[in-house]
Amino acid sequence: MKRKEIIEALQAEDFTKYYEKANEICLRTKGDVVSLRAIIEFSNICNRQCAYCGLNVDNEKVERYMMTEEEIVSTAKEAIEAGYRTIILQSGENTGITLEQLLNVVGSIKAIDKDVAITISAGELNEEWLKALKEKGADRYLLKHETADPILYKKLHPDSSLGERIKALKTIKQLGLETGSGFMIGLPGATVETTADDLLLLKELGCHMAGIGPFIASPDTPLKGRKDGDVELTKRAVAIARILLPDANLPVTTSLGVLNGEERKKAFSCGANVLMRKVTPEEYKDKYSIYPAKIPPTNIEKDRKDIIEMLKEIGKKGE
Ligand code: SAH
Repeated sequence: MKRKEIIEALQAEDFTKYYEKANEICLRTKGDVVSLRAIIEFSNICNRQCAYCGLNVDNEKVERYMMTEEEIVSTAKEAIEAGYRTIILQSGENTGITLEQLLNVVGSIKAIDKDVAITISAGELNEEWLKALKEKGADRYLLKHETADPILYKKLHPDSSLGERIKALKTIKQLGLETGSGFMIGLPGATVETTADDLLLLKELGCHMAGIGPFIASPDTPLKGRKDGDVELTKRAVAIARILLPDANLPVTTSLGVLNGEERKKAFSCGANVLMRKVTPEEYKDKYSIYPAKIPPTNIEKDRKDIIEMLKEIGKKGE
């Protein structure tokens, strides 16, 4: 699909043919499987100023934490025992964790099961860190480009630029890490043209994975009170991403589920094939508040079973 067709499709009265196409491609490349990933939010410390994010450095209301190496590894172990085959380690940027600590964590998780995939998502790490993590066994890196509009990017990230983000993504790819990008739908100032450019950037980067989710206004951020991203537009963008990148892993983001649980289910017939579950220990979970979301307490095993049941109801196998 070219830019013009993408823009038209995103606004079309009837999007059915694209949903059908995306679903058909997804069934061909991914079958009826939804891949479940366990996400451990190991620290909410951050020195960045992303205007949409509740964890940004200027938000003094956040009670900051960093899990210890032992806590991270034992949480990963519990997730692996519950059946997860991918562990995502996510945090703010420049949390204070040392490279040595992060390498220890990766090594210890691989020692539990060397075939478990490890994804890191800790912001823009330098090449030395990325290289060392890859050598230690990290498999994937998730760094969303957030918005492909360079002017909007600068407005939302006064301390950075789109160029730097893209450079970091290219380094990740060059090092042979599976590369995950993605973006938000409905950021204040974004248009359908922005979304089309976001989708084309995923294609240009040759992403292996892309997380596309609605913006949710977060209190105590410069964007508080703004309108949330549109759920239908999010599903359409996921479908087009599937058409552009047939083999990519495309999660239904947590933010879509937060805005609308029913629509989250539907996204699995629009091209999405991945679901991430928070396995962060209860004592930290609520403190990793990127945007407001009440996630009821549960345990890792039960949550996984419940999600597999939910997926069964819509004809999908959660693995
Ligand atoms: N510090 C890491 C992880 C960021 S949090 C990094 O910079 O990559 C993970 C993702 O949550 C972000 O990439 C962003 O796309 C999404 N996110 C942040 N704030 C959000 C908001 N208010 N609404 C919806 N999604 C948001």
